[in-house]
Amino acid sequence: MESGVERRRDRLTSRNPLTGGAVGDFPIMGVEEVRGLVGAARAAQAEWSGRAPEARARALDRVRRLVAERGEHIAAAIRAETGKVPGEALFETVISCDYLSYLTRTAPKLLLARRAGTGWLTHRRARVVYEPFGVVGAITPWNYPFAIAVSSIGTPLAAGNAVVLKPSEYTPAVGQLVAELFAEGTGVNDLVVVATGDGRTGAALIAAGLDKIAFTGSAETGKKVMAAAADSLTPVLLELGGKDAMIVCEDADIERAARGAVWAAFYGCGQVCMSVERAYVVDAVYDDFVRAVVAEARRVRTSDEPEAMVGSLIAPFQLEKVDSHVRSAQSQGARVLLGGRPIEGAGHFYEPTVVVDVDHSMDLMRDETFGPVLPIMRVRDEEEAVRLANDSAFGLDASVWSRDADRARRIAGQLRVGSVVINDHLINYTIPDLPFGGVGHSGFGRMHGLEGLREFVRPKAWVEDRLGLQREPYWFEEGGSGAGLVRSLLEFRHGRGLLRRLGAALGMLRGMRR
Ligand code: NAD
Repeated sequence: MESGVERRRDRLTSRNPLTGGAVGDFPIMGVEEVRGLVGAARAAQAEWSGRAPEARARALDRVRRLVAERGEHIAAAIRAETGKVPGEALFETVISCDYLSYLTRTAPKLLLARRAGTGWLTHRRARVVYEPFGVVGAITPWNYPFAIAVSSIGTPLAAGNAVVLKPSEYTPAVGQLVAELFAEGTGVNDLVVVATGDGRTGAALIAAGLDKIAFTGSAETGKKVMAAAADSLTPVLLELGGKDAMIVCEDADIERAARGAVWAAFYGCGQVCMSVERAYVVDAVYDDFVRAVVAEARRVRTSDEPEAMVGSLIAPFQLEKVDSHVRSAQSQGARVLLGGRPIEGAGHFYEPTVVVDVDHSMDLMRDETFGPVLPIMRVRDEEEAVRLANDSAFGLDASVWSRDADRARRIAGQLRVGSVVINDHLINYTIPDLPFGGVGHSGFGRMHGLEGLREFVRPKAWVEDRLGLQREPYWFEEGGSGAGLVRSLLEFRHGRGLLRRLGAALGMLRGMRR
């Protein structure tokens, strides 16, 4: 049996990473079932998109209240399928409530039609209206099974879409719970439906006639999703993996930077797409930083106890990946200063690990590790730090640690990432008004903020008449191509000198009267 999830022919059972016990049993849905779900969601969308944005926002606020009231119950469900410590599991509900509250307050305003300039067509009226896509497929990972599902459902819903959620095979019960909360809060049946299963179900969903795909997961799967979506030209939003770098300058507060590094590398057992996975520290403060990191990392307690700071990895495959990154780095000359081994016993625990003498030939510095490992690299100066931070296929987030705001901003501006934080890490995700997403293999498109909401609407350009003319001057005339009028137009709009432009305007009016 594969721990984390047990698959039989057409069913799967999610398992508690801490105990191995069964959590829930679900169908692995195939093409027909998924098509049925998309059809049901489409019918619900017709009703939902007819509601005013304010009414939809009020419904999302009811979902927020349910999440807030049931926080402890939700956190227990998250812990059961992921092995997270209780504080981290509960924090998913805080991010979700904050984001739903943001949508409630802002979506109706952000979705208002915008007046547009009319250019040379001064006798027209123009605007842009934002229309929902229809049915959105939200394919989500196991690491934030609640918060990512809430964002991936709440945003399209605010914009008037319906959603088919395909939760990770490791966390189907949490996925089901999210959908139930939305059903109760909105009061609309089938507006959010759940396609349980594994990658085959995700692939079936992409082929089931969606209008938009919002995928969050690994870069490897993201490429498959994009290739599959190409067949039907379905637009995709890809939120993929990361290999976040932190840069520590010589004028940084070293104690703070070390505490921050340990927190951002080990929080969530390092299974956060924005975990610090590489630290670049300038030579002058490198030894002090490493000493402070090791001292701080010794305090990190990882176990199945509710009081632990760090919980379990999701499943054995993740434990093997983390260990193989550390082992192969060691075989290439890296030194493990702390940890570096799986912890025997129940659950999938790995020692909080600090590694030095690393370089970019190592998987540990190039691929996403997604575990409690902090590799630290000595660099000559900030130029080398920036060059190495940017030497990555990924580009999700990064942080710069310095007491000099100008220097920190200068470095931040040079980093090829979707988000950057000065003197902290991870926290940008918790600010609902900030767009979240990456560059390169970290994906494209954005969740959250104005940019995230716009991902789930089609802008429709709209032009109306104001004067009710009998005919337009640029329509076909007996006299040929209308080149004279076009010449006057060019002169009027872009010619040099007021007199020449006025002359061209008169010429145009004469042409129009003819
Ligand atoms: P994954 O790519 O293995 O799976 C993600 C989802 O895709 C799951 O629901 C899975 O069943 C489904 N899937 C698998 N194969 C598919 C296919 N061929 N077609 C359609 N769907 C398919 O990722 P994971 O292991 O669940 O999650 C961890 C990854 O997610 C990490 O790389 C992490 O960095 C990334 N992540 C990114 C963000 C972000 O916002 N950028 C957030 C969280 C996690």
